[in-house]
Amino acid sequence: MRHPILAANWKMHKTVGEATAFVARLLPRVEEARGVEIVLAVPFTVLERVGRSLEGSAVHLAAQNVHPEEQGAFTGEISPGMLADLGCRYAIVGHSERRVLFAETDDFVARKAAALLERDILPIVCVGESLEDREAKRTWDVLGAQIQGSLARVPDELAGEIVIAYEPVWAIGTGRTATPEIAQEAHAFIRDRLANRFGAAGAQIRIQYGGSVNPENVYALMQQPDIDGALVGGASLDPEAFARIVAFESQGSVQ
Ligand code: PEP
Repeated sequence: MRHPILAANWKMHKTVGEATAFVARLLPRVEEARGVEIVLAVPFTVLERVGRSLEGSAVHLAAQNVHPEEQGAFTGEISPGMLADLGCRYAIVGHSERRVLFAETDDFVARKAAALLERDILPIVCVGESLEDREAKRTWDVLGAQIQGSLARVPDELAGEIVIAYEPVWAIGTGRTATPEIAQEAHAFIRDRLANRFGAAGAQIRIQYGGSVNPENVYALMQQPDIDGALVGGASLDPEAFARIVAFESQGSVQ
């Protein structure tokens, strides 16, 4: 049984005041959410304060990035131990913005994922093809290489601890969501790769879809057999919109 996981990725948004106001408005709206996991991936600067605001709730705290080393001369970086200290349950690694804007490689992503697992923090490992890749019919090559490379250091016995986010780069922040069918095709491919890599445990790994998810399109996406959740950027900045995404099942009746 794969429990749906709905995660907000705030990216570089929200001050401490804005973040606490968001949590105060979100929590009453998601109290009734049953059987789904809710995650807030927030900037490093608000992790501590948001973590305190989430205490006693079922919402998990997450970071958006991490450095693979535990300590050392890495100016400006944050270690897995520091995130554990603040109560992070999850951390995003390999987001396409990190891969493209900060030249992060699959091997670096793999080191981050392994370092997080050592600290009992669950990595949300992002993969996804660019528009250029898709148009050149390289989608499966790209996804296959990212899955293989980014998960290379995940110990087999910890396969169930990871989450994959399939985020086609052409759908991120563009308003151009993948159709449920296109997303399902990619998720099925990733599921197959995970089974190759981890055997039966691969079937239990949750795969989120990310790319312009909003309250109107989340229901149809979540009906697909291999879509187990969503990683949400823009629409997660508004607590009402994110709460409606969390309550995706009730969106079905308003289609
Ligand atoms: C993301 O940042 O992971 C994302 C999917 O963004 P958006 O929902 O804005 O496309």
